[in-house]
Amino acid sequence: MALPWQQLLRPTLDQLWATIPVPVFDLAEHYGIRVHRRFLPDRIAAILHHLDNRWFLYLNATHSRERQRFTVAHELAHVISYRNGHSLSTPDLCMTDREHYTDSRAAEILMPSWKVRWFISENLSLDEMAKEFAVSRHAMRIRIDEFMRKNYGAMSIGRS
Ligand SMILES: [Zn+2]
Repeated sequence: MALPWQQLLRPTLDQLWATIPVPVFDLAEHYGIRVHRRFLPDRIAAILHHLDNRWFLYLNATHSRERQRFTVAHELAHVISYRNGHSLSTPDLCMTDREHYTDSRAAEILMPSWKVRWFISENLSLDEMAKEFAVSRHAMRIRIDEFMRKNYGAMSIGRS
């Protein structure tokens, strides 16, 4: 059966994952998450609900673009882990300074290893990398530190 042509033009999941900056809102939609912006208290980045096999994400409308992108990646990480058999209690109130594990999965979604490695080899500065990935400087710094620890952790600089 032929698909409507608009559907054929829709990027595939693989294409979405390979695009930088990662189109995290489109990815969320692909995973069945409906995102709505709402006015929420500042300390709450988002609220994720699971209802009848659908996901509803209420995103704090007052947060910066970079912050909102990170929050969507965080909730997407929850949904992907849930699909892989991990439990998740909803509503998930995504608070600041919580859930380091999910935050590092979110960082991997927004700043994939292959691209971090490439940017480092191209000698991009922290600011340039943050701009390319459309993330905050803070998130970029944490990601680079984690990347270096994971990939070069056993090596000490200047060792012969
Ligand atoms: Zn969370």
